[in-house]
Amino acid sequence: MGDTRTDTDVVIAGAGPTGLMLACELRLAGTDVTVVEKLAERSGESRAGGIHSRTLEVLDQRGVLDRFLAEGELQPVGHFSGLYLEFDESESRHPYPLMILQSAIERLLEEWAAELGVRVRRSCEVSGISQDQDGVTIELATATAPEVLRARYLVGCDGGRSTVRKLAGIDFPGTEPTMTALIGDVELPDLPEDYVWVRRTPVGDYSAIAFEPGWHRVITSEFDRVPDHQPVTFEQLRESLIRVAGTDFGMRNPRWVSRFSDAARQADRYRTGRILLAGDAAHIHFPAGGQGLNMGVQDAVNLGWKLASVVHGHAPESLLDTYHAERHPVAERVLHNTRAQSALVRPGPQTDALRDVFGSLMVFDEVNQYLRHLLNALDIRYPTDSDHPLTGRRVPDADLGTPEGVSRVYELLHAGRPVLLDLHGSAEVTAVAKGWADRVDLAEARSEEEHWTVPALGDIPAPTALLIRPDGHIAWATDDDTPDTSALRTALTTWFGPALQG
Ligand SMILES: Cc1cc2nc3c(=O)[nH]c(=O)nc-3n(C[C@H](O)[C@H](O)[C@H](O)COP(=O)(O)OP(=O)(O)OC[C@H]3O[C@@H](n4cnc5c(N)ncnc54)[C@H](O)[C@@H]3O)c2cc1C
Repeated sequence: MGDTRTDTDVVIAGAGPTGLMLACELRLAGTDVTVVEKLAERSGESRAGGIHSRTLEVLDQRGVLDRFLAEGELQPVGHFSGLYLEFDESESRHPYPLMILQSAIERLLEEWAAELGVRVRRSCEVSGISQDQDGVTIELATATAPEVLRARYLVGCDGGRSTVRKLAGIDFPGTEPTMTALIGDVELPDLPEDYVWVRRTPVGDYSAIAFEPGWHRVITSEFDRVPDHQPVTFEQLRESLIRVAGTDFGMRNPRWVSRFSDAARQADRYRTGRILLAGDAAHIHFPAGGQGLNMGVQDAVNLGWKLASVVHGHAPESLLDTYHAERHPVAERVLHNTRAQSALVRPGPQTDALRDVFGSLMVFDEVNQYLRHLLNALDIRYPTDSDHPLTGRRVPDADLGTPEGVSRVYELLHAGRPVLLDLHGSAEVTAVAKGWADRVDLAEARSEEEHWTVPALGDIPAPTALLIRPDGHIAWATDDDTPDTSALRTALTTWFGPALQG
């Protein structure tokens, strides 16, 4: 028998973007959550500089997107390994990436978390864990004395070097680095242009991206120089820029210097008992195309409602296994595309030729679309047995009309609850919904569009009813006027637990 005392339902290790988003999702679902973070205050550093369509949609689903749009700038184009990609406005209300610094993303998420009542405890570093059948015991090193917390579940959102992952004994297989990139936010008074984007030279490449007036983010990439683990110095960044660009452009006054590589690794299990992993703790890769933070936020949105449902006793623990089943393949695909992107940036005439050929292919719509979907994650379909083409996919934000004045699908998801959307006034759907009335919201609406546009499918007839999970993925869909309610009941039970008695 384990220790049945608990201080909180869920402890999240790490107040980065993944941990904060997960905390918000759990609180929205009424779960008691404590975030423990080793840093005394937010670092203010920004590895990431942008978020993609699906993450913008996820924030829109929760009604907080405007906060992020107000602090960023939409970009009309993206890139795959530095080669330009175009976006398609018919695929999403938010087709374009938003350039916004990671420091702003973390601040906005932490403000939202505070509004929702999340406890974030800083200067608390997870240093030991053990689990039993009732919960997890978490040892913390704090600024004062060591402490012990007891929770029903622990989620490691503690980054690529995750202590939780290591202490839980979860393997992190993958590929070793083949290059070193150094990065720094500096002044570059002698740079002749405003902006340099992936300029290739015989020994590597460099970029100088203007982030704020007077400041540039310099990134140098050199190959076959495997990174060591010592902190990077400003002098090393200067020397690297001289090697790659032939000059340091008068580089001075560093605010931040760091390094990254193309090492790509993924946890072989996202869950062991009561311990789970999300974000960089579960996967690391070359940051080409800016996918890591996006994927962490989307891991959190997949896991949050499932973990809350298990904590509240609605769904069995096996629901948590769908988190690995759904999210592991997504990261596998990202690791794959980033390995391809790191191969495409190697120096040399062969890669120059390959980039040239690859770039010519990208003007074809289908190639552009394929690569766009790899990066913006709008085409993801989670495993499903259903034949309906919408099942497993993210719901499009279609125009609606409801008696309550709701005008589009994502407004229905603000509370983070599942929604049974009846677009055909079906008495059968209403009758079934009564069995899950405590957990699933029934919404009756008219679809304002005859066809819905779905990435990777194109235009399909608007469905007559849909069961939408809190993460915006479709658990069941029908085009029939008199739907098969046994399939609906199965989907409701699978995802949200058994019907109410009586
Ligand atoms: C150069 C560069 C550019 C990038 N650009 C983009 C981009 O444009 N878009 C994008 O989507 N991604 C980008 N990424 C990736 C992105 O920065 C990461 O994927 C993202 O930060 C992962 O978030 P996280 O919350 O999972 O982990 P982290 O951001 O690493 O947060 C982990 C947190 O856990 C804390 N922690 C660690 N150990 C412990 C412990 N034992 N106890 C308690 N707390 C602990 C840490 O202090 C930290 O606050 C980029 C990365 C790099 C290197």
